[in-house]
Amino acid sequence: MIPVTVMKDETVALFGLGGSGMATALALKAGGAHVIAYDDNEKARQTAAGAGIVVQDLRTLDWSTLRALILAPGVPFTHPAPHWSVELARAAGVEVIGDIELFCRERAAIARRSPFVAITGTNGKSTTTALISHILRIAGRDVQMGGNIGTALLSLAPPKAGRVHVVECSSYQVDLAPGLDPTVGVMLNISPDHIDRHGTLEHYAEVKERLIAGIENSGTAVIGVDDAFSAAMADRAEEAGHHVVRLSMQRPLADGIWREGTALVVSENGAERFRLDLSGIGSLRGVHNAQNAAAAYATTRALGVAPEIIAAAMQRFPGLAHRMEQVGELGPVLFINDSKATNADSTERALVSFEDIFWIAGGKPKAGGISALSPHFGRVRKAYLIGEAAEDFAATLGTSVPHEISGTLHRALEAATREALESGLPHPVVLLSPACASFDQFPNFEVRGDAFCELVRALPGVKARERVGHAPSSPPVTPPPHCPAHLGAKGGSGGAKPHP
Ligand code: ADP
Repeated sequence: MIPVTVMKDETVALFGLGGSGMATALALKAGGAHVIAYDDNEKARQTAAGAGIVVQDLRTLDWSTLRALILAPGVPFTHPAPHWSVELARAAGVEVIGDIELFCRERAAIARRSPFVAITGTNGKSTTTALISHILRIAGRDVQMGGNIGTALLSLAPPKAGRVHVVECSSYQVDLAPGLDPTVGVMLNISPDHIDRHGTLEHYAEVKERLIAGIENSGTAVIGVDDAFSAAMADRAEEAGHHVVRLSMQRPLADGIWREGTALVVSENGAERFRLDLSGIGSLRGVHNAQNAAAAYATTRALGVAPEIIAAAMQRFPGLAHRMEQVGELGPVLFINDSKATNADSTERALVSFEDIFWIAGGKPKAGGISALSPHFGRVRKAYLIGEAAEDFAATLGTSVPHEISGTLHRALEAATREALESGLPHPVVLLSPACASFDQFPNFEVRGDAFCELVRALPGVKARERVGHAPSSPPVTPPPHCPAHLGAKGGSGGAKPHP
């Protein structure tokens, strides 16, 4: 835990007692603050009270006595409308901040020079966060990983000289951290997503840019420049005097890191300085993962890790659960769990990453279905359709892709495995990439992915891989004490990560 001493002897209100809210309340209390916490959910209130937190309806407080309102990241700050606790704080002139802001202030107070990496972007945050942490651990660094990726930030070990904090930041968390000042700030990409929470794409981009704008004086900004918002951000960061490393997966860069086929090229002043070959790294398949790898390279270089160590560490990256996770092999058949792909966009990234696919898809359908995926149907040998979406998907596949309505995941896997084995193809892939939410048959995508993995592991003769997050990352490093039991479990409370 990181006791938050910067609020010592102050009275602080906190709204939202989920995983990170609870951790924040405990960290404030441990640091000597008087915390008064609340949540609309009765059970959450009881749990907090049971843990020794003072629970009281914040509407009954004298707000003139409060130092700050700490908001859990899931609680609306601006859009669609400020939460009532935010209105009360504003009326009383009380600042509203989140756990990342508390972390930054505490770090400034106790270990100003300890390295702090903050990662944001619309997509790829968790993969990049996990990959950066993995490389640093392989390089023998003392690493603490948390934030939106799973372990609540304030339940990590405290900042100290030589210890690196690698923190995934959702835009909500950035919004609540006006003093965010990382040593290395990573902005992967900006695409229209979760605009509901921020009003407009411009505002969403503006919020995310604060992570870059706040970077420390001698720090580094790592920015993917393949979208217009991020490219403009990189220019502004440079104008502001930051050291900027640009990443492009679409075009060569004279300065920065760019992709050529399955290799990343590191360029300086128009000359190639290093080439990182990603071919054969199963956990980093696809152009999207090349971007994540480029960001991790730039970040760990900025922290002084040698290029050769980074390259060797990437070879050993186990990947994240439920994101094109390699589950195992049966003869030539490779099984992939991409349960996190809950829409066509995500599934597209999986379809373009493999050939000869025996595709398990379906669940609770999303608007638009899978018609956008038709350019990639040529890679699908057969589709096995499950859940509510099955009939719709069958209609979209029509006569262009062989398919069957399997109904359940179990039946789909059985048929896909048999037919993949019988296909005679050299490298058939049984891919669960549903392009659907899971709620018709499973509580969330993690349970769906876990069910798939268990079914695969039960196949006679299968060579299963170690589940990600179930084994220590890699020697020589000891996993951090707060390493989540399962990297796919998000938000510190075991639920799905809700924050982009
Ligand atoms: P996040 O934490 O931002 O949600 P993840 O690393 O968990 O991102 O990846 C979630 C999904 O987003 C992946 O399954 C993949 O489909 C897609 N994705 C991952 N990295 C990228 C990227 N760099 N660009 C675009 N899409 C990506």
